[in-house]
Amino acid sequence: MKTAQADRAEQAVAELLADEGLRFTPARRLVVRALADAPGPLTTGDLHTALRSRLPLSSLYRTLTVLAAARVLAREHDGGGVARYELAEWLTGHHHHLVCLVCGEVRDVSIDPQTEGTIAALVERIAGGAGFEATGHRIDIEGKCAACRRR
Ligand SMILES: [Zn+2]
Ligand SMILES: [Zn+2]
Repeated sequence: MKTAQADRAEQAVAELLADEGLRFTPARRLVVRALADAPGPLTTGDLHTALRSRLPLSSLYRTLTVLAAARVLAREHDGGGVARYELAEWLTGHHHHLVCLVCGEVRDVSIDPQTEGTIAALVERIAGGAGFEATGHRIDIEGKCAACRRR
């Protein structure tokens, strides 16, 4: 995320936490910033490394739990069943993920509005066929990342 965008996300989190009566502690700020700067969803281990161990693991876990409960973070499981965290889509905008099945890296990918419209129409058709009203979608693309393809 670009700096200005990360600043806006941080400001939005500050307002949400204030509304919820929660403090934006230095630990919470560090985690939000690290996730805003990351190229994709991070595992707890990735985050610990990104923060250069400035947060003890126990307080990192606690911080992640609080931020996820406040809907600041989205928590998902990757193909290996490992939990990964990212800023929620209301902060970052709608996007998809590229999941490398070789090295395990997960990267954000945003799609141009026209292609996104095509995907949304396809999703509506699939859902509508089952009498289901689609309100969103999540698509992860699995495969081999550029670095792994060169190896
Ligand atoms: Zn890879
Ligand atoms: Zn989409």
